[in-house]
Amino acid sequence: MSDTSFPQTAQRQVIASPLALRAGADEVIRLDQVHKTYHMGDVEVHALRGVSLIVDRGDSVAIMGPSGSGKSTMMNIIGCLDHPTRGKYLLNGLDVSGIPTNELADIRNLHVGFVFQSFNLLSRTSAIENVELPMIYAGVPSAERLRRAREALAIVGLADRENNYPNQLSGGQQQRVAIARALVNNPSLILADEPTGALDSRTSVEVMEIFQRLNLERNMTIVIVTHESDIAQFAGRIIQFRDGRIRRDFRVTRQRIAREVLEQLPPPGDDEEDVGEEEL
Ligand code: ADP
Ligand code: MG
Repeated sequence: MSDTSFPQTAQRQVIASPLALRAGADEVIRLDQVHKTYHMGDVEVHALRGVSLIVDRGDSVAIMGPSGSGKSTMMNIIGCLDHPTRGKYLLNGLDVSGIPTNELADIRNLHVGFVFQSFNLLSRTSAIENVELPMIYAGVPSAERLRRAREALAIVGLADRENNYPNQLSGGQQQRVAIARALVNNPSLILADEPTGALDSRTSVEVMEIFQRLNLERNMTIVIVTHESDIAQFAGRIIQFRDGRIRRDFRVTRQRIAREVLEQLPPPGDDEEDVGEEEL
């Protein structure tokens, strides 16, 4: 693993340096009284009603709450896909409210990796090409692109699947390609909106093991939305939403360790969903 593409060992030391102790220096996310109102004809939908939140570098956060409570709206704002109607959002200390949409796309591509419930891979594009995509947008030369894409696929355990198309991969494998794509530009932040929502329970833990590894070993900041409280327990902090507001925000006292949970689970059986091998 090269230090240029995935700085890892240095980051925890940086946190302790005097510079980083400056207030706010190591906040990845700062939301200040963020409101979001959608207009549907004459009807106003208040999706967020004054959300304030700070997430520090290296934090892992699970967002929970009923459907319609504003979780995805907040993720879209944090991911620079949308602006708040009112209030302030700082990403890595940078106030993104005033940044025009075309520049926002670049910030998003370099600073944020997205993972979605439905994987969102390009279907006629191989695993490695899917992973290369954010680097193409970022203007990374092709040899380095290939090298970094291979590194990222190795991190998610799919080094041997780089030429597979999404329909030759199981759901869990597709989600791992999506995670590789999310981390390939070494973003400050990985945002995952219900990343295990379409996966069975063992596969869900496998995906959480990758997030946990990125968080604990590479100090990547991770925010995931989940409906399942046993998935949320893999995070270090849980935030509960209701009606566009944060209702609870607490540290997980006994964070579950995905690698340990996997060791306790029965090994994947013959019926494991894996469509790749036969079709190769
Ligand atoms: P969650 O992710 O917690 O299910 P959302 O953030 O998707 O909640 O939605 C919060 C509220 O905002 C809901 O009432 C939803 O219907 C509304 N909403 C979300 N996106 C839009 C949109 N693009 N236009 C209008 N209303 C929206
Ligand atoms: Mg949602």
